[in-house]
Amino acid sequence: MAVHSTVRGPSLGGCRMWTYANAHEAVRDVLRLSEAMSLKAAAAGLAMGGGKGVIALPPGGLPRGVRRADVLADFGETVAVLAGRYITAEDVGTSTRDMDRIATVTPYVSGRARRHGGSGDPSPATALGVLAAIEAALERTHRSPALAGRSVAVLGVGSVGSRLIRLLTRAGARVLAADIDPSRRAPAERLGARWTTPGRALTARVDVLAPCALGGILTAESVPRLRCRLVAGAANNQLAADPVAELLAARGILWAPDFVVNAGGIVNIQEELGGRSYDARRARAQVRQIGETLRGVLDDAEARGVTPLTAARALARARLAPA
Ligand code: NAD
Repeated sequence: MAVHSTVRGPSLGGCRMWTYANAHEAVRDVLRLSEAMSLKAAAAGLAMGGGKGVIALPPGGLPRGVRRADVLADFGETVAVLAGRYITAEDVGTSTRDMDRIATVTPYVSGRARRHGGSGDPSPATALGVLAAIEAALERTHRSPALAGRSVAVLGVGSVGSRLIRLLTRAGARVLAADIDPSRRAPAERLGARWTTPGRALTARVDVLAPCALGGILTAESVPRLRCRLVAGAANNQLAADPVAELLAARGILWAPDFVVNAGGIVNIQEELGGRSYDARRARAQVRQIGETLRGVLDDAEARGVTPLTAARALARARLAPA
């Protein structure tokens, strides 16, 4: 578990259940992800800090039944020790149901089921925020936010990716979808997407590439092969390293910073934690503000001649500086 910042409020971040090559990799991941959560919350203007939880699994897949309940109880006890400095939520490998289980051990849990007064699965809000960000960024690359007739490659058809496909096809976009899991093909096609391999989706000639799988996809090797005008998606830590932001800019590809684009989930959760009862309509309006935040970041980047990464970090860091 990592608490990166509590300057703006309690640290919030999901609990990732994943198999890592070794313990060092798990620690590296939780540290990087917790920092990204601080930047994300600050960039979105939320009164929250950044934290993250990782449950590093031994090889053999996700635990089920009693073993899963035990693992989650152990995690919950560790959350309880932090006495509110860290609030957990769902992430890759965990679910709303898992959050309800953790809530039997500690109150510092968000993203609980709607029937328990929570905001439920954050993925629809995240997908809505990605859509708002794509529209705002299209204004720069294509002079119009309209999605009708635009082509979008969605890489990763999981909780967020599948919902994003639905929103995109409804808005009239042509969607190419890919996932390493072949069972995602039928749902993607049902939503109106054309299926391809992850390698082809990454380098497809499209208007927009929307990374919605895991991070590290934009590298010194992959960026020269991209054929899109804009990259905006839900995946955390899309850049393998910071200098990749310069490579993207040099190729004339607009990269919308991931921690600005994918804040919909925590904006939604903030509505759950605000001490008021959760209101889905109010939450959706807040999530759509992500488009406005991104416009501000892109304006600043253009005005100062810096990459969107530098502009977004500057916005977040200024808000994270202790008063
Ligand atoms: P998910 O586990 O439901 O879906 C991820 C999908 O990506 C899976 O279908 C998986 O098979 C696929 N995938 C994994 N590696 C791949 C690869 N190399 N190529 C193609 N597909 C691959 O996860 P999710 O909740 O949809 O989240 C997706 C990403 O968005 C993650 O990086 C997550 O951290 C980030 N994110 C999610 C939320 C949220 O609300 N769920 C919020 C913010 C950020």
